[in-house]
Amino acid sequence: MTLLSFALSFPLSLCAMADDLPLRPVLDLTRALIGRRSLTPDDAGCCALIGERLQRLGFTLEWLNREGVTNLLATYCADPAAPAPLLILAGHTDVVPTGPLDRWSSDPFQPEIRDGVLYGRGAADMKSGLAAMVCAVERLLADTKVRGTLAFLITSDEEGAALHGTKYVAQVLRERGIVPDYAIVGEASSHLTLGDRIVVGRRGSLGCNLRVLGKQGHVAYPHKADNPIHRLAPALAELVATEWDQGNAQFPPTSFQVSNLHGGTGANNVIPGEADLIFNFRYCTESTADELKARVFAVLDHHGLRYDAQWWHTGEPFLTRHGALIAAAESSINEVCGLSPEHFTGGGTSDARFLAPLGAEVVEIGPINDSIHKIDEHVRIDDLERLSAIYEGVLRRLHGTR
Ligand SMILES: [Zn+2]
Repeated sequence: MTLLSFALSFPLSLCAMADDLPLRPVLDLTRALIGRRSLTPDDAGCCALIGERLQRLGFTLEWLNREGVTNLLATYCADPAAPAPLLILAGHTDVVPTGPLDRWSSDPFQPEIRDGVLYGRGAADMKSGLAAMVCAVERLLADTKVRGTLAFLITSDEEGAALHGTKYVAQVLRERGIVPDYAIVGEASSHLTLGDRIVVGRRGSLGCNLRVLGKQGHVAYPHKADNPIHRLAPALAELVATEWDQGNAQFPPTSFQVSNLHGGTGANNVIPGEADLIFNFRYCTESTADELKARVFAVLDHHGLRYDAQWWHTGEPFLTRHGALIAAAESSINEVCGLSPEHFTGGGTSDARFLAPLGAEVVEIGPINDSIHKIDEHVRIDDLERLSAIYEGVLRRLHGTR
């Protein structure tokens, strides 16, 4: 019987009676991480703590810190002659601000257990995920010679600008010609119960600040002016009515939404010289950012607009179709939780958007997400060791050799 299966079969009521049972390593590490006040982009020593544990297992640590962001890339390969496959366990140590402290039932940076639930900032997003991953690898390496390479990619810049964290490390990997086969992101993916959902894709986000240029003048002399609002109106109607794609089995159709529209000087007798529009695409894998841009330009040009367009692209869509990683995740979740996870592609963005373009199959597997970013963020203690068992099961299926 492994330590894990013993821990899982240990009477939970007994476990709940003591805070510091040695059989709850994931709980212990989660608490230690919550106790480090890692407000984004401050790592507050979390990566050092994790790095120490990994180094003891034989991982090689590489610090790719940049612009005040801590980035840890830790790799383990038992046989350098056979480095494939490469699996990355990815996550972030930074947390969002607490909000008003007096609304928390306990100090957000002093982990507290109440009624079988662990409270603290980062409890679900995502210090428990990191702790569960570390402990899973500890158990795996204790009794198994692993195939290929295991890596941890941990950053302190996910909740903030997300410019110098995983995005940067992914760039470094690309420059080195490293193509990961699999990546598991430990974000809180579960909905109502642990393992009921895994995230297998996310939509892309493409936005534009569009300035339509005209010529200012008096409303009584329109022939001496050029009204940008009048020029924009039919083009905008066409953009709104356009079907960009039809989506697919995993994603809804690409959506176009205007968030801001402004024109005019405030005076009621002046034709404005320009009109400003801000719009955003949430797009699926049936379209690309370049295609969408080209189609927008075609509409604007068709209507004879003069304009200046500033685009911002914050994420490519990704979708992991059925492959070895999803099969391993489903099988492991089924074994630990007794259920088949829903494949989900909704929600906001995560660092998975930077890992998928490297060519990896990517899934997000983590605890229940109902309290993330909220007051009294929490995770169920019973879920901690089970989440770790899920990760361990995935690793054994993909990397285990007996
Ligand atoms: Zn997160």
